[in-house]
Amino acid sequence: MEQILAAIQGGASGTDIGHLPIPESYRAAFVRREDVDMFEGVDSAQKDPTKSIHIDQVPTPELAPDEVYLAVMASSINFNTVWTSIFEPLPTFGFLDRLARESELAARHSQPYHVIGSDASGVVLRVGNAVRNWKPGDRVTVHCNHVDDQDPTAHDDSMLALNQRIWGFETNFGGLADLSIVKANQLMPKPTHLSWEEAAVNALCNSTSYRMLVGQNGARMKQGDDVLVWGATGGIGGYAIQYVLNGGGTPIGVVSSPERAELLNKMGCEAVIDRRAEGYQFWSDEHTQDESEWRRFGKKIRELVGEDPDIVFEHPGRSTMGASIFAVKRGGTVVTCAATSGYMIEFDNRHFWMKLKKLISSHFANYHEAAAANKLVYQGKIHPIMSDVYSLDQVGDAALTVHRNQAEGKLGVLCLAPEEGLGIDDPEKRDRIGEDKITRFRTTP
Ligand code: NAP
Repeated sequence: MEQILAAIQGGASGTDIGHLPIPESYRAAFVRREDVDMFEGVDSAQKDPTKSIHIDQVPTPELAPDEVYLAVMASSINFNTVWTSIFEPLPTFGFLDRLARESELAARHSQPYHVIGSDASGVVLRVGNAVRNWKPGDRVTVHCNHVDDQDPTAHDDSMLALNQRIWGFETNFGGLADLSIVKANQLMPKPTHLSWEEAAVNALCNSTSYRMLVGQNGARMKQGDDVLVWGATGGIGGYAIQYVLNGGGTPIGVVSSPERAELLNKMGCEAVIDRRAEGYQFWSDEHTQDESEWRRFGKKIRELVGEDPDIVFEHPGRSTMGASIFAVKRGGTVVTCAATSGYMIEFDNRHFWMKLKKLISSHFANYHEAAAANKLVYQGKIHPIMSDVYSLDQVGDAALTVHRNQAEGKLGVLCLAPEEGLGIDDPEKRDRIGEDKITRFRTTP
C-alpha cells in the first residue's frame, strides 16, 4: 500500500496507477463471526464497539467484472457501523451468507470477518473488464447502494430492487480500510474543493436526507414548507437542515444541548427546540404515551413558526413517532428512515386518519438520487458536516462516540491519507465557497 500511497501523493498518471501491483492483503476494520454472542445479556447502551471492532490485515478479494479496486483515502463512521459492531438488531453475517448464495463471485462475501464501512473517498486502482465510465487514477467518492443491475427489479427505483443492499453493512469489503472493492455504479466524482476526509463523510447521510426531503420518492418538500427535523445536528439531520434552507423552507431543529442549538443557529436555523431543556416525556412508562406531552411539543412548534409542520423528518423511532404523527399538520407528511430508539413504534391512529396525514418510509437513495446529492456537494451548495477526524486504528473509539450520542454531524476516518487536509484539488473553488461553511461543524482545529 506504501507504493500506492506514494504514487497518489506524487501525482502519478492514471496509466501508472493502473499498473501498480494490488497487494495480497490490506489493513481493514472488521468484526468477527466468532464474536457475535459476545454482548449477550448486556444492555444495548453498554455494548462497546471498541471490544468488537478489530484492525488487522485481511486477504484482498478477487475483482468481479463490474467492480473496481479502490485505494481508500478516507472513510466515515455511520450509525450502521454502530449496529454492526454491537450485533444489533441482527449480526450482519446473515446478510453476507445470503448474498454469498447469489453467485460464484458473491460467495466471496461470506467470511469469518466482516470489513465494515459504508462511505469512502479515494482513487480507482483497477477496473473490472465490464467497467466503462471509470478508469485508474479517477478520484471518487462512493455511495453505498449495492444493486445488481442485471435484475429487472433494479430498473425503476433501484432501492426497490430485490437484491438491494447497503455496501459495507449488508456486503463485505466495506470502506473502513485501506482498500475496497465497489461496484462501478457506486462511484461518483470527488468534490474538488474538499479534502479526502471532508469528501468521505457525505454520501451515506447526504443521499439519505436528499431522498427523504427532495427526491420524488420522499416527502417532496416545497418552498415555504415548515420542516421539523429530529437530531438536527446529527448525521442525517445536519444535511436535512441544509436541504430545508436551500429549498426555501423553514427548519425547526430538535437537539439535546445548548451547544447543538447554537450550532443550528450558525447554520441559519432560527427555530430550535432543545428537547432536554424542555424535558419532554412522551412515554409516561414503557407501555403508555402521554398525549399532553405531544400537545406541549406541538404548542412549542406553533410558538416558534406559527403553525404545525408540513413535514416531520423522523428517525429516532419508538421514542418520538407518536409525537411526530401528532404534531405534523393536517394532510402533512412524516418521513422516516430509521428507529434508533426502538423499531416497534406506536401512534394514535385517530390523529393520523382523521387528519389525513401521510407516513412515508425511506431508505438510503437510488443511484440517481445519490448522484444528485453528490452534485450539490460538488457545487458547494451542500457542505460536509464533519466535526472530528479519527485514524483507522481508532474506528472503535469513533463508533463508541457515535453510539453514545456524543458526536456532532459526522466523524471522518483517515485510511490511506496520512494526515488531514490532503486531496484538495481546487483551492480557489474552496475559497469561493468559503472555509467557514465547509468547516462549520469542526470541533477540533
Ligand atoms: P447520529 O449522527 O447519531 O444522529 C442521530 C441524532 O438523533 C442524535 O444526534 C440525537 O440528537 C437524535 N436522537 C437520538 N436518540 C434520540 C431520541 N431517543 N429521541 C430524539 N432524538 C434522538 O445518527 P445519524 O447518522 O443521523 O442516523 C440516525 C438514524 O438513522 C440511525 O438509526 C441510523 O442507523 C439511521 N440511518 C438510516 C439510513 C437509511 O438509509 N435508512 C441512513 C442513515 C442513517 P439530539 O440528542 O441532539 O436530539
